[in-house]
Amino acid sequence: MNSPVVIAIDGTSASGKSTNSKLIAKALEFIYVDTGAMYRTLAWYCGQKRIDIHSEKEVSALCRKWKTTLDCVNGQVRLLVDDYYPEKEIRTAETSAAVPHVAAVPYVRDWMKKKQRECTRFGNLVMEGRDIGSNVFPETDFKFYLDACIKERSARREAEGVNENLAARDQRDSQRAAAPLMVPLGATVINNSGMTAAETSKLIIAHIVKRLHR
Ligand code: C5P
Repeated sequence: MNSPVVIAIDGTSASGKSTNSKLIAKALEFIYVDTGAMYRTLAWYCGQKRIDIHSEKEVSALCRKWKTTLDCVNGQVRLLVDDYYPEKEIRTAETSAAVPHVAAVPYVRDWMKKKQRECTRFGNLVMEGRDIGSNVFPETDFKFYLDACIKERSARREAEGVNENLAARDQRDSQRAAAPLMVPLGATVINNSGMTAAETSKLIIAHIVKRLHR
């Protein structure tokens, strides 16, 4: 049997990774994996357990022992903690501000990488994040890096009713030592400022289809 295909979609915050990954997964009938949601779940859980997100030791200890499950519902992988999927809670401004701290912890990154690689048991994947092409699935032939100008990215978040400092989050994500946000080697870089999601996903799908049939 052929091993599952993994489409890696990395990029800056609000660069359209989620919208495009969902459109691509739907078009190709692949499973969608939002790795940001996994990091957000741990950041939220730290708050629940009153863990200091600035303490690498405390965050690592919690990550070592939290009880999680991976499932796949409606073509989307979810990470549950204590059998609960905190869908709404992980999208708050508070969680967004906390998550880069948790995501910079080396133990957490190793743990997440293992979980994310496990997702191939659900089938072919479209996986979005910050280090998918560079660190989680460096062997994949399908790597895309999305970006857009900061003005447009902020406007997209505001349209969703979220007001946050995207530049600060991107800076933290790019400057951490462990698996920082970067353009993966061999990635197709797409700046989608001024483009609709339909246009961006069409462009990416065309690249994928061409490569799949090569
Ligand atoms: O994509 P999303 O905005 O939900 O990601 C939230 C945060 O999770 C990012 O700002 C980053 O700190 C972290 N993250 C990461 N590596 C990934 C996915 C997300 O460090 N692969």
